[in-house]
Amino acid sequence: MRFKLFASIIALGIGTQMATAQRFPDANTTAVNDFADMLPEDDETRITEILDTLEQDTGADATIVTLSSVRFYAQDMSVADYATALFNEWGIGDVEDGNGVLLIVFRDDKELRLEIGEGFDNAAQTRAKDVVDDDIIPLFAQGDMVGGIEAGANGIADHIVRNNRVSASNTADTDDAKDSNMLWYILGGIGAFIAGIFGLNRRAAAKLAATPCSACGVAGQLEKSRVVLEEATEDQEGRGENRTTCGACGHIERESYTINRVKIEKDEFQGGKSKGDGASGKW
Ligand SMILES: [Zn+2]
Repeated sequence: MRFKLFASIIALGIGTQMATAQRFPDANTTAVNDFADMLPEDDETRITEILDTLEQDTGADATIVTLSSVRFYAQDMSVADYATALFNEWGIGDVEDGNGVLLIVFRDDKELRLEIGEGFDNAAQTRAKDVVDDDIIPLFAQGDMVGGIEAGANGIADHIVRNNRVSASNTADTDDAKDSNMLWYILGGIGAFIAGIFGLNRRAAAKLAATPCSACGVAGQLEKSRVVLEEATEDQEGRGENRTTCGACGHIERESYTINRVKIEKDEFQGGKSKGDGASGKW
């Protein structure tokens, strides 16, 4: 009797824990995270381009995620609730604009959710439903998973985000003006920099022409070159060598230098939130 009570307390404990337990995969990119491997590489690249272009044009982060089954990530959670939780865990879209969009496809459950950020209006909610019902589900139902996901990406870009852009067009204009001013500053700076390099190069060349070789003493035969001996990677500095070669005797003077590690610019989510709006679908 006592054992039974004990066992049921444990069962209750596990049950409660299972109800709240949820796992979130780490995002590899802000565009396509194909964890369920539904997209061949070429298709993934093409769909990523749709989403990247959208982000460059509008600043909106649209993310596509494929997962196997919701039960591997959350117990007792609907696809819609899990989509909201993942959206907020990752922080898709801008915090202030609330312009993130998440399309999450559960391959084995044959269920999907198109979740929109809190910055979208009610009309976007209707358009999300249209994208799911008219663009994605008919293709999924025919077994065309790639086609359905690509149609979803285009639907998000054209019907949900770009349609919503009208209200934001004023701020976009001033941003464009700022960008083009900035562009002129940058171009001016680059011009001055290049002119500086040519000036320096001419002076350096004149100096080099007057310098005699340290081995044979002949002047005007020295040539400088830069050689990369070991390319820099993400993990390691590279090595290079500045060489001064004498054309008369072949003597080489070497001076080594290090090359900074390669920095990978990682695109990151910006903390956007969802209130749980969007549209669901099954096929
Ligand atoms: Zn020499």
